[in-house]
Amino acid sequence: MAIPSKPHVALLSSPGLGHLIPVIELAKRLVTHHSCKATVFVVTGKPCPVENQLLQSAAASNLFDIAVLPHVNATFPPETEVLTRLLLMIQEALPALHSSIASMTHRPTALIVDLFGTEAIKLAREFGIKNYVFIASNAWFLAFAAYFPHMGKVEKNEPVKLPGCNPIPYRIIEETFPNPDSRVYHEFSRVAVEISTADGILVNTWEDLEGRTLGSLKAEEFLKPKIKSPVYAIGPLVRQARPAGSKSALIEWLNKQPNRSVIYVSFGSGGTLTAQQTMEMAWGLELSQQRFIWVIRPPIDYDATASLESEDDKNDGDAMSKYFPAGFLTRTRDIGMVTSHWAPQVEILGHLAIGGFLSHCGWNSTLESLVNGIPIITWPLYAEQDMNATMLVCDFEVATGRTAKPSGVAVGRNEIERMVRKVMVENDGDAIRSRAKELQRSGERALEVGGSSYEALSRVVEECDMSLI
Ligand code: UDP
Repeated sequence: MAIPSKPHVALLSSPGLGHLIPVIELAKRLVTHHSCKATVFVVTGKPCPVENQLLQSAAASNLFDIAVLPHVNATFPPETEVLTRLLLMIQEALPALHSSIASMTHRPTALIVDLFGTEAIKLAREFGIKNYVFIASNAWFLAFAAYFPHMGKVEKNEPVKLPGCNPIPYRIIEETFPNPDSRVYHEFSRVAVEISTADGILVNTWEDLEGRTLGSLKAEEFLKPKIKSPVYAIGPLVRQARPAGSKSALIEWLNKQPNRSVIYVSFGSGGTLTAQQTMEMAWGLELSQQRFIWVIRPPIDYDATASLESEDDKNDGDAMSKYFPAGFLTRTRDIGMVTSHWAPQVEILGHLAIGGFLSHCGWNSTLESLVNGIPIITWPLYAEQDMNATMLVCDFEVATGRTAKPSGVAVGRNEIERMVRKVMVENDGDAIRSRAKELQRSGERALEVGGSSYEALSRVVEECDMSLI
């Protein structure tokens, strides 16, 4: 009797670590928990040592194949929006993706693309294979994105009402899409329409976390008339910490600190603060009298995403000292670690010495905090991060902090001191600390066999399996 072949799932990652990391996690999960074969297609931007390392270690795991699509010309005029850049890079990579799939002997039965890869859906159709969009963000963002083309005129200063979901604050629309005639507005509308044409939408969240929004995405009377594709909540998918014994100086330092005594401060793969804000942050941390690890990128005052595409690892800690108050590094030598290099974030957040995370609220960072039961100080900088921050503070109640991107006025040192102390030590932080622990357990349950996310991904795999017959 012929042995039935495994479903072969191809995944397409758009450029950027924040996109590649969750796509790799999804590929791992499909292989290790759902007996699939997987091939990850990667579209890369500028050369990036951290990305190379990530790809090398994924390849060394031998769990799935990785195909880096030929490097595309990623030079754009400086004013080009991030969304436009990403969509153009994907577009340029499509012919190579087409010929790679065409030449495979064990053809994929499904193609999963991320938010910026929706143009590849047509290619999956051409090959007659299943197609899914993986939203490496949350259900509220998915609801916003998929409803976007149907919103009509948005009234100034009025929140946008999403049927069955929390309204979207007006400032999010205003900041992200100030002009309905702009190129980026039309590009996002196109992506939004394409999302809704997929055979299914996978989202990196879980039922217990976002039940109401997920319910609205599925219910006929709410978003379903607009968002036709079935939605599968399959998270929280995050990287696992490598086994103990890491050689990182940060981890060695953490090993010597008391449990839950260190606040971790980081703004993702490329977030930056202004010079003035960097100064206030340093004062705030020092005044809080808490131990800290601070991952810092050089301030670039006009752009919070400024180092997103940098080659990384090229700034060293001492070079940053000019941005700190005089004597800061000396005074905090025994209680703080400042690094401008790529930090081993999942190992740090999984360490017993960590008690809080001051985060830009990128969704990967958010999930990495939640799966470790770590309460958050929200500090959104760009993209959908203020939606994430709003949910963390108002809905999930695991955080304190800002729910809007920088407005030009720096947050003062006393405010920072207060937030750090609240999350780390003060009694008024008890509720968010214990809620963070609850969500940790709820995320674990979702991923267990029989849990909501495990079962949702099993259904997707069954569909891919059916298409083999
Ligand atoms: N990250 C890391 N070390 C760093 C900075 C970031 O490992 O020094 C990882 C982090 O763990 C997360 C990803 O980079 O997995 C950042 O993704 P996120 O969605 O949080 O934010 P983005 O960088 O896309 O804004």
